[in-house]
Amino acid sequence: MSFTLAIVGRPNVGKSTLFNRLVGKRLALVDDQPGVTRDLREGDARLADLRFTVVDTAGLEDANDDSLPGRMRRLTERAVDMADICLFMVDARAGITPTDQVFAEILRKRSAHVILAANKAEGAAADAGVLDAYGLGLGEPIRLSAEHGEGLNDLYVQLLPLA
Ligand code: GDP
Ligand code: MG
Repeated sequence: MSFTLAIVGRPNVGKSTLFNRLVGKRLALVDDQPGVTRDLREGDARLADLRFTVVDTAGLEDANDDSLPGRMRRLTERAVDMADICLFMVDARAGITPTDQVFAEILRKRSAHVILAANKAEGAAADAGVLDAYGLGLGEPIRLSAEHGEGLNDLYVQLLPLA
């Protein structure tokens, strides 16, 4: 059985970096039309022997980090509703922000399965942020480094029983 994993979280936490790592060059849907912004990117992901669809909530790059505009909320809700599992990503170096708390609230209400990932977790500078992430009330965070490919084994272990 296959499943859909949506990567959600505020801008700049590393969602697209993880998406690209999971998808490689196997991007399923590419919109070539000029002037058209794709807010949700979908790809065929591979993680060891797991095959699944991954959705990246793109199009948030211009959003103000300190607020949660309606667009960010709507886009996240769309991604959550089309997904079987949500990977909620926070930035372990930046720590938990008020915007992260709003995302956590959306997910607690709306998503059946949430995997919490504290990204940019390479090195000791991330330790405090990882501990902070426990306070979101979404369980134990995975220590992830999307850029360096660390923590993917822990992601695999969490996905396996849901797959
Ligand atoms: P998005 O806005 O959530 O999609 O974030 P991006 O994937 O575009 O990444 C935002 C920035 O964080 C980029 O400069 C990435 O290179 C950087 N980044 C992503 N993952 C990591 C990581 O694991 N460690 C560090 N140190 N930087 C990362
Ligand atoms: Mg992105």
